Amino acid sequence: MMGRVEGKVAIVTGATKGLGRASAILLAREGAKVVLTGRTEAEGEEAVRAIVAEGGEAVFVKQDVADARSWPGLIEETVSRYGRLDILVNNAGIAIAANVEETTLEQWRLTMAVNLDGVFLGTKYAIGAMKKTGGGSIINLSSIDGNIGEADLAAYCASKGGVRTFTKAAAVHCGEAGYNIRVNSIHPGYIWTPQTQNYLADLGTAEEEKRKAAARHPIGRLGEPDDIAYGVLYLASDESKFVTGSELVIDGGYIAQ
Ligand code: NAP
Repeated sequence: MMGRVEGKVAIVTGATKGLGRASAILLAREGAKVVLTGRTEAEGEEAVRAIVAEGGEAVFVKQDVADARSWPGLIEETVSRYGRLDILVNNAGIAIAANVEETTLEQWRLTMAVNLDGVFLGTKYAIGAMKKTGGGSIINLSSIDGNIGEADLAAYCASKGGVRTFTKAAAVHCGEAGYNIRVNSIHPGYIWTPQTQNYLADLGTAEEEKRKAAARHPIGRLGEPDDIAYGVLYLASDESKFVTGSELVIDGGYIAQ
């Protein structure tokens, strides 16, 4: 049986752990060739081995998404290895637990560099490659914190709000230019990944904070990486061919209240 993204070529940034890793594995399982990026080589190579062990095709490229110089080489390597680029998942991101009064300018700038510059650069360079081969799908990881404010995540909220409307600007541009490139954002609630574990541990006792966070989701629990990976898969596949500039909220009802 054909996979849902059979024959497509994908880059997933920040795929060494968490949502990026789960998304890369699912895309490969559904037939895509996947380039995984991140800063931690050992974890990246381990994720590639997990994909190859299932019969998939993948490679790890070490990358800091905030480094503008990293992007042209990554795109070139992808196209020279696999012939094209169809899917970019701008997933890499960081969250620093601090309210507006506590946040230092350095923390603010670091958050913007990774979460916002990284998404801007990825989108810009991916458009350049995708428009040469007939189109593609760009998926930007925003957050429910791109839609609502959380006191302890001031810089994070600002960066994810930026990702949300930047995505729409890029989607409208690509549509008007006739590139056949779709650009969408995903807005997860709390998903049980290293980022969430570290953030909750910073707030207090991890187990108690996990229980409190779960209670804020009407569905009564935190999400799992696959909950987001299936959203990525949908937006990456041709099943979503009329979807662009949209925000896919996957949050157990968190922002429905
Ligand atoms: P995670 O567990 O902390 O993983 C983050 C990934 O990003 C890692 O693979 C990390 O790899 C990579 N990364 C961080 N800084 C990077 C940089 N400068 N360059 C390249 N890669 C970098 O986070 P996650 O929970 O999977 O979150 C993934 C995305 O979803 C993030 O954008 C996050 O904000 C968003 N999100 C998550 C949740 C959630 O509840 N988990 C909710 C809403 C939105 P290295 O350390 O190897 O570089």
